[in-house]
Amino acid sequence: MALLVQKFGGTSVGDLDRISSVASLVGRTIDEGHQVVVVVSAMAGETDKLVGLAHQLAEVPNQREMDYLLSSGERVTSSLLAIALNAAGHAALSFTGLRAGIRTTGTHTSARIRTVVADEIVDALKKDRVPVVAGFQGVDDNRDVTTLGRGGSDLTAVALAAALKADRCQILTDVSGVFTADPRIVPEARKIPRISYDEMLEMAGLGAKVLQARSVEFAKKYRVEMEVRSSFTDEEGTVVTQDDEGMEGVVVSAVNCDRKQAQITLEGIHDRPGIAGKLFGDLAEAGIVVDMIVQNVGSDDAADISFTVPLDSLPMARKIMDSTSRELGASAIKTNDQIAKVSIVGIGMKSHSGIAAKMFGTLADLGINISMISTSEILVSCVVDSKYAELAVRSLHEAFGLEKEPDGRS
Ligand code: ADP
Ligand code: ASP
Ligand code: MG
Repeated sequence: MALLVQKFGGTSVGDLDRISSVASLVGRTIDEGHQVVVVVSAMAGETDKLVGLAHQLAEVPNQREMDYLLSSGERVTSSLLAIALNAAGHAALSFTGLRAGIRTTGTHTSARIRTVVADEIVDALKKDRVPVVAGFQGVDDNRDVTTLGRGGSDLTAVALAAALKADRCQILTDVSGVFTADPRIVPEARKIPRISYDEMLEMAGLGAKVLQARSVEFAKKYRVEMEVRSSFTDEEGTVVTQDDEGMEGVVVSAVNCDRKQAQITLEGIHDRPGIAGKLFGDLAEAGIVVDMIVQNVGSDDAADISFTVPLDSLPMARKIMDSTSRELGASAIKTNDQIAKVSIVGIGMKSHSGIAAKMFGTLADLGINISMISTSEILVSCVVDSKYAELAVRSLHEAFGLEKEPDGRS
């Protein structure tokens, strides 16, 4: 008998038929003799709908109220699934983030998990009840509801798996695993049977939304083995785990594209110590995550600085820049939401040269201009005009031969 955490994403619980199918799948797992803790997302499109409603009322809605609003989507699904399981003869009990013991920081809309006190879930399991947890949410020290950032139900699942010392955390979704590129953009993309936490972490941070980046970070820290698989078919999925020699034989594992970023440029700011600290300090204080940063220093004691932020943080970031730009001496603030970050990832890059050059050459041959570049040991990212994103991903997938079965990885 194994203890499994099974998390079902939005499409997997998108309507009542799907919720019934999920109830059957969970029921089968229990009938096979396993214990299951279920985590659910909101029904597909529900969170976006709620965000849209709030933005019709305020450009930058109150963050605490956003959390109360957005967390409701997951609560609806957890109750509906518990109702379906009970009707199918499997005693089930729905849990809010509070009752599941998910205690977080108070950073509304992007809270971090501090501790998980899962006693009530353990109790339910002892009584042969199936806990069905509303994902994506927790509570802070004031007992206010918080949410864990978009895609955060993955994190709920991993955190519970770690706290309960589950044998595996299964992420059941609308694709059958992690592919060499988003299969919706590259039909030739290949399923990767095993992938390292580090590669998956980079991919998730780069727009492969199949897993939320923070969930992978958490899984790596607490050694939770994750498995991404389909909730629609029985195919083998992808195991996300520690790297091994077979994995390092592959130079480039995947190509990703992130269109949910925006670029902000401050022109003519003072070129003196403390300016970058002030600028990025103000953004950090508001919980805004800055990704790429490029600074060009001119000859006349002035510099231009460009950086990227998540697209949904753009209105807030812009507001902060409007109030601090005078202090920084900026002569103009420009924003661009028509960008895409295209990236290649692979742990084998650590020991190979010429990979970045091949990427730049491929983009140049297509006439695609690169406006920002960043690299790490296992990735190269380029910011390009969003209209070229899909062309870039497909061409890079082909240039690095990713549709072919690699030697070494099984
Ligand atoms: P869920 O609602 O189950 O959480 P998501 O929509 O968050 O599912 O994530 C699944 C989606 O991730 C897929 O439908 C797919 O389009 C997208 N995706 C992006 N990159 C990849 C990749 N490299 N491999 C698999 N899926 C990917
Ligand atoms: N419903 C939330 C979202 O759409 C959380 C999740 O699905 O994991 O981001
Ligand atoms: Mg998701």
